[in-house]
Amino acid sequence: MSQNRDAASSAPQVGPWVLDTREIGHRAGSSRSYTRDAPAPAGFGLDMIGVPEGAPVELDLLAESVVEGVLISGTAAADLAGECSRCLDPISEEIEIELRELYAFPDSTTDATTDEDEVSRVVDELIDLEPAVRDAMLLEMPTSPVCSEDCQGLCTGCGVKWAELSPDHTHETMDPRWAALRERFGGNEEEN
Ligand SMILES: [Zn+2]
Ligand SMILES: [Zn+2]
Repeated sequence: MSQNRDAASSAPQVGPWVLDTREIGHRAGSSRSYTRDAPAPAGFGLDMIGVPEGAPVELDLLAESVVEGVLISGTAAADLAGECSRCLDPISEEIEIELRELYAFPDSTTDATTDEDEVSRVVDELIDLEPAVRDAMLLEMPTSPVCSEDCQGLCTGCGVKWAELSPDHTHETMDPRWAALRERFGGNEEEN
């Protein structure tokens, strides 16, 4: 016997990211709070910083039934790991976002009058929180994260961190003719 229903369905896979609206109740005014950790899927971040795959995203949410659907509000928090965009040192910081998202019921006016891109949907009685939480977190993440605001980055000449170099560190890009002269008279210069 084959069970093709799951494969064919576009409903969210039940898991920590998914809420079942039957638990909340469809009557306007009923509500339920959810506090749980959901593992970050791959790609939960930007080029240089993000939530590592599998790391917990702490969800602290209230789900309220309203006429048009289910209103989700609350916070999501996680630890970010990344690289300083100037010196490439590993960095870690915390992120917390506020979420306020309506998930429209399939037979609601909202469902009939809006696009799925504009307002999220309840699909097969389920709410998939992951896209909205990810979108909100990506917006909050720095595109050019830094280990500290005054990070000087790397010397373009040798790739060593400026923090580890002396203030007068330079790479002289000398005309070869001057280099030859300097080799001849360099000794004198040092003695003076
Ligand atoms: Zn840095
Ligand atoms: Zn250098």
